[in-house]
Amino acid sequence: MSALEDFLTAKEEQNIVEAIRKAEKNTSGEIRVHIESTCEGNTLEHAMEVFHVLKMDNTRDQNGVLIYVAVNKREFVIYGDKGINDIVGETFWNSTRDVIASHFKKGHFANGLIEGIENAGEALSKHFPWTHDDIDELDNSISKG
Ligand code: CA
Ligand code: CA
Repeated sequence: MSALEDFLTAKEEQNIVEAIRKAEKNTSGEIRVHIESTCEGNTLEHAMEVFHVLKMDNTRDQNGVLIYVAVNKREFVIYGDKGINDIVGETFWNSTRDVIASHFKKGHFANGLIEGIENAGEALSKHFPWTHDDIDELDNSISKG
């Protein structure tokens, strides 16, 4: 088994997808989780590439949020699109990052991601509330690379 397959159990993956679905009930924003076995070089730069490859920069309100995890380094990045960052500024994601980091330190990766998703969803809902014409613009499943 690769490190990637060991990172989350099937059940944990289901719980994460469910957390995304629930979070998106309260916001038009789109949250995705991408996990990758190894990331060479700069994690943030790579997360930005993944953001583009997943077409997360194509949402109507530019309110996609990616939680990217490099499994080999136990590192993660939260990357939000321009629409969000223009409104809220750089410090917006600090609380979400702290929540995830405290779980990751203990090796609780699924819990960290789920709480991070809940936290991000709550923050998003304040600035991008759910509307009746909302569509699920980005798949809620975990993508892997
Ligand atoms: Ca949506
Ligand atoms: Ca979605």
